[in-house]
Amino acid sequence: MTTSIWKAKASNNHYPPLQGQLEVDIAIVGGGITGITSAYLLAKSGVRVAVLESMQVGGGTTAGSTGNLYTMVDNRLHHIQAKFDKQTARTVAESRTAAVDFIEQLTLDYDIECSFKRQPWILYTESGEEKKIIQKTKEALRDFGLEVEELQSLPLPFQIDSAIKVENQAQFNPAAFVSGLAQNIEKDRCKIFENTPVHHIEKGSPHILHTPNGKVTAGKVILATHSPKGVYALHSKLFPHREYALAAKLKSGEYPEGIFWSTDSKTHPSLRSYDTADGKYLITVGYHHKVGQEDPQKDYFGDLEKNLRRIYDVEEVVYKWSAQHYKPADGLPYIGESSDDNIYVATGFSTDGLTYGVVSAMIFKDLLTGKENKWAKTYDAKRFTPLKSAKPFIKENLNVLKEYLKDIPGKAEAGMFSEVKKGEGKIIEMKDEKWAVHRDEDGKLCAASAVCTHMDCIVNWNNEEKTWDCPCHGSRFRPTGEVIEGPAFSPLDKRQINPEK
Ligand SMILES: Cc1cc2nc3c(=O)[nH]c(=O)nc-3n(C[C@H](O)[C@H](O)[C@H](O)COP(=O)(O)OP(=O)(O)OC[C@H]3O[C@@H](n4cnc5c(N)ncnc54)[C@H](O)[C@@H]3O)c2cc1C
Repeated sequence: MTTSIWKAKASNNHYPPLQGQLEVDIAIVGGGITGITSAYLLAKSGVRVAVLESMQVGGGTTAGSTGNLYTMVDNRLHHIQAKFDKQTARTVAESRTAAVDFIEQLTLDYDIECSFKRQPWILYTESGEEKKIIQKTKEALRDFGLEVEELQSLPLPFQIDSAIKVENQAQFNPAAFVSGLAQNIEKDRCKIFENTPVHHIEKGSPHILHTPNGKVTAGKVILATHSPKGVYALHSKLFPHREYALAAKLKSGEYPEGIFWSTDSKTHPSLRSYDTADGKYLITVGYHHKVGQEDPQKDYFGDLEKNLRRIYDVEEVVYKWSAQHYKPADGLPYIGESSDDNIYVATGFSTDGLTYGVVSAMIFKDLLTGKENKWAKTYDAKRFTPLKSAKPFIKENLNVLKEYLKDIPGKAEAGMFSEVKKGEGKIIEMKDEKWAVHRDEDGKLCAASAVCTHMDCIVNWNNEEKTWDCPCHGSRFRPTGEVIEGPAFSPLDKRQINPEK
């Protein structure tokens, strides 16, 4: 089933779409963990809030994650320490620990059924070559006062070289958490709307947010859309990656307990178990690549499954899904006011955003109600860190430039509509313009301009997921051109097909 296990196991309360006009103090675009936790905290502080969600609350990347909560970071705390300083890494560790504790508190206060469970976090290496990563991570974590245990073996069915373990991290069902928290937001001060995409923000004082059947006037806006909607210089410092996940049933019934991370940075598969009413599942996540730049020869889901079957007696793969994350140029997320007055962003979470999303909400609660926040400066979205960002910034933006160069004439994938087979998408050149042409399983053709509506890059066909993906800044579109995710506001421009061509 190509849906995430979290969505399948979480019940969502349904919210109506926005009809008509509304005035609030703060409009929150996006109802993932960042948007809903921000709405909860702001409404509790006495502010009038509206959440505008284009699809379903908690159904975005939050439901595409692995559902792990931890102090550590994907990019490792010792890298942050090396790039910035000890104090910055300490702030990251402190804010993330506080966010995990806060999530736990919320689940207890409101009895949110989301399988929240304290679990150990384990980093292991299978080869001696990566022992150094284990050693450095261990030293950094001990520096931050965390108790680190060294291990020589793990409850996993393969040999390891070495590992470290930190107790008291956590796991949950993120979609169920967000759905449960949404039900407990103060209703007098917060309105939630689903199926309400914001397709334009008229910037001003106040800002006006336009949706298909209504508009919202708000003094302040939070773009809790994972990647900020619209054109921001910040996008040149965010590098979008897709990653694959699956949940399987095992024959043996021996499911490992904990958060298992491998040091293998290439495939980066992580493992965890999840206990449900219909039994346990083993979840594995990995094999990431830049959005819109997958290797067409590769079968990412297939490779992930092969890797799992290599080590486990898999009975059945029940769920598979993929999701997107944005790596920040200097290794820290961007949280705070954007280059537009009173428009706030929370992005660049890498694969650590369930916790960073809650850190963002805690920061927004203070910043948007006129209070100081001790973590805000570290994550400031307007920070300028050229030396710390330079290497990835240059590498990634050269990669973006390479994608822009695809717009030169003559670089099309097909010359005739007949070359586009059922279920396929191809770029065809028509009147000096590139078209994104798709033929559905019934043989019906549809076409749109292949120029991404965010910043004019040429989209690529993603055959695995049957979508048009922008390789520059990560916008993704349905085969017929509607926006799925990423910074683009507008759909690909529709084109009329002359079937004779
Ligand atoms: C494979 C994978 C595994 C991960 N595992 C973990 C993990 O174990 N732990 C962890 O901490 N992090 C993990 N992450 C990262 C984490 O999932 C994300 O960082 C986090 O969920 C981001 O939450 P969010 O609320 O900011 O964004 P989202 O959950 O994506 O929410 C944004 C919402 O905005 C809505 N939206 C977008 N555009 C509009 C619009 N125009 N109008 C209205 N609404 C709009 C979307 O529909 C969506 O619901 C993982 C990420 C990936 C890809």
